[in-house]
Amino acid sequence: MESKQGNDVFDVLPGSRRDWLAAGFCADSPFPARVTPYYASLIRGSDPRDPIALQAVPRAEETDPAGLPDPLGENARSPVPGLVHVYEDRVLVMPTSACAVHCRHCNRRWRRDVAGPAPWHEMLPGWLDYLRRRQVAELLVTGGDPLMLPPEAVGELLARLRETLPASVLRIGSRLPVVDPQRITPALCATLSRWHPVYVNVQFNCPAECTPDAGSALTLLADAGIALGNQMVLLKGVNDSTEEILRVNRWLVNHRCRPYYLFLTERVRGTRHLWVSAARGLEIASQLQRGASGLLQPHVVVDTPDGGGKVPLTPDRVRLHETRAIVTDLKGREVVVED
Ligand code: SF4
Repeated sequence: MESKQGNDVFDVLPGSRRDWLAAGFCADSPFPARVTPYYASLIRGSDPRDPIALQAVPRAEETDPAGLPDPLGENARSPVPGLVHVYEDRVLVMPTSACAVHCRHCNRRWRRDVAGPAPWHEMLPGWLDYLRRRQVAELLVTGGDPLMLPPEAVGELLARLRETLPASVLRIGSRLPVVDPQRITPALCATLSRWHPVYVNVQFNCPAECTPDAGSALTLLADAGIALGNQMVLLKGVNDSTEEILRVNRWLVNHRCRPYYLFLTERVRGTRHLWVSAARGLEIASQLQRGASGLLQPHVVVDTPDGGGKVPLTPDRVRLHETRAIVTDLKGREVVVED
């Protein structure tokens, strides 16, 4: 299914452009809108509280200058184009910056501000050369959404990576099962399953995304032996409720996808209206611990810059102040998280 990008995004949404504008949404953003007809079909209407619209349609608040363009500092840790050395034994590669939907909370908006990546096959020799000289336990293939590449390109890319890293885990990050599930086909799953161990991490954020089509996509992947994990992002007005999170996690577990991480919203510039405070994050983390079976509990974390790690959202790591929190990262450094 084709995505709609640019000023005509309202064409695929229910209701009139006037209603959308009146509800505080807008057509223009430095990070242009892009949405699939499928994902748009989950939107109930031009309601500023609609959890899908909040993730897919730009809002006027995106001009708020708070936050950083690249809060995790990934751009500075890219020794070769399209590759980030995340932690000592973990590296990520970004074969494309294309996505089916431009999630409004995306922490890789910065990729649109730097010179666009070269085609993946031009970057590949640099990646392989770098990877050969290092001990890499896990290679993250992310982006953008790597499953936006044609299936034969995905197969060729994984074949070359597996040849270079015969014993590493390959982890693919993709939102296609959430935003365009029909693109998860038996042929694509067969391609992925040739290069095990392959993990696919998805990002389901709210109950409205848990549809029969999305469930079928997860089932296809799981039936191909692919280990599935969900990396949910806490988003104000979308899922900042323990009950909603548990509804999604129950559905995921029933589709053989493990709730893996729940991230405190990264402080990305242009996304302030979606930030959940550290105080609310702590509350949710504690409620999840008390009220749910272990299978339903993700690691509730705040991701920190410069390789500081994914820090558990717990009172011993997070000190609350009036308008901000101080987080002690896994290297013992203090990081400020603004409300
Ligand atoms: S799919 Fe991922 S990389 Fe793409 S816009 Fe959404 S959050 Fe960002």
